[in-house]
Amino acid sequence: MRDALCQLGASLHRRGYTHGATGNISIRQGDGFLMTPTGVRLDSLAPERLSALDPSGRHCGGDPPTKEAALHLAMYASRPKAKAIVHLHGSQSVALSLLADIDPEDVLPAYTAYFVMRVGRLRLLPYFAPGDLSLAKAVGEASQHAYALLLAHHGPVVAGSSLEAAADTAEELEQTAAIHLRLHGKACRCLSAAQREALLTQFPQSV
Ligand code: ZN
Repeated sequence: MRDALCQLGASLHRRGYTHGATGNISIRQGDGFLMTPTGVRLDSLAPERLSALDPSGRHCGGDPPTKEAALHLAMYASRPKAKAIVHLHGSQSVALSLLADIDPEDVLPAYTAYFVMRVGRLRLLPYFAPGDLSLAKAVGEASQHAYALLLAHHGPVVAGSSLEAAADTAEELEQTAAIHLRLHGKACRCLSAAQREALLTQFPQSV
């Protein structure tokens, strides 16, 4: 799992899903968690240096964890079936979060079936200053109702039933944000409400 986490980080970074030393990834393993360390680029992760946290979220091995560890722990607490969380600072998602006319309860229309199947209904959380402990609390509350959240002026955070599932959702969100930005202001056809509901019923949240 350590190798898989590092490979995923490198892949996301290489393909531009996050940049610099932004973004962090975690997995739930046994009772505890493995997390990307603070200040490290996702394309420079070392398996043996990943941060280990005990079930209470206390650092118990490896390098110190990401400063956003509390955000991950809050989401795991709200979604007991979640096995992995991916948080990115993708530019398309951040741009989407800045649009004045989006519905915070339902950010993106159903452009594609894959978006509805993988992301479902996307929620927007308001801005929190870096280090504000209220962010983790807000993420914990919102993730009781959704496994994909968009943090305004910041980026997406998604939970998955596996590392692959969380990454798939994060990538789908970023690509759909790009579609939205490209179409913004243009008249366009989306899936109907009935088509969307059918997909949400057929593919219920699995995490
Ligand atoms: Zn962040």
